[in-house]
Amino acid sequence: MRIVLLGPPGAGKGTQAKRLAARHGLAHIATGDLFRRNVQEETELGTIARSYMDRGDLVPDDVTVAMVVRGLELAPRGYLLDGFPRNMAQAEALESELETTGRPLTAVLALLLPEEVAVKRIAGRRTCRSCQRPYNVELEPTAVPDTCDACGGPLVQRADDAVDVVRRRLEVYRESTEPLLDFYDRRGLLRVVDAAGTEDQVFELASRALGHPVGDAEERPALR
Ligand code: AMP
Repeated sequence: MRIVLLGPPGAGKGTQAKRLAARHGLAHIATGDLFRRNVQEETELGTIARSYMDRGDLVPDDVTVAMVVRGLELAPRGYLLDGFPRNMAQAEALESELETTGRPLTAVLALLLPEEVAVKRIAGRRTCRSCQRPYNVELEPTAVPDTCDACGGPLVQRADDAVDVVRRRLEVYRESTEPLLDFYDRRGLLRVVDAAGTEDQVFELASRALGHPVGDAEERPALR
């Protein structure tokens, strides 16, 4: 399976991508995560990416495409692209790269939801600085405010989840990424998933859209 996951910030792409990738044994290639790691490790790529990320803008296409192509080479058994492509130039670059390998995309899953739901989710999004566990303090407050239920570490907000940056990221999504829905629909690859529900509900819908409902035998606990 070679899958692209599309959707606005706050649609739950990262969460669903992790679950889908684990279920289907796919590599999870998340451009946002790769950039954040480079920023944290203060690499040359991280220095370039940071200035764009802090504003909510897209990192330049040449840098991004090169990073993704390297990732694809390490994923011969299939992959789930999360956060890429983000604009038409990236979609076309991906298409021509895959043409040369003779392994085109299998499906494009679009996780879509009303903007106000996405904004609310992002506002509550936090991660434990110590154990990296993700939380949504708006939807499910922790026992002690700003503190990880699992390890007691401090919860932190992603710098680009600040309100004004989120506004820009949504604008970038509408202008640059949304047109990809048509692009992939014309190629017969698009499968739209309602992403406004709970994590489990969205996972069920996304699994169905890929033709593997969660009720499948492989997902049930083994009989003992
Ligand atoms: P994400 O974690 O997917 O929301 O991405 C966080 C930030 O990383 C974005 O706002 C962009 O600045 C950058 N980024 C992630 N994916 C891409 C991409 N495909 N093209 C350009 N920039 C990206």
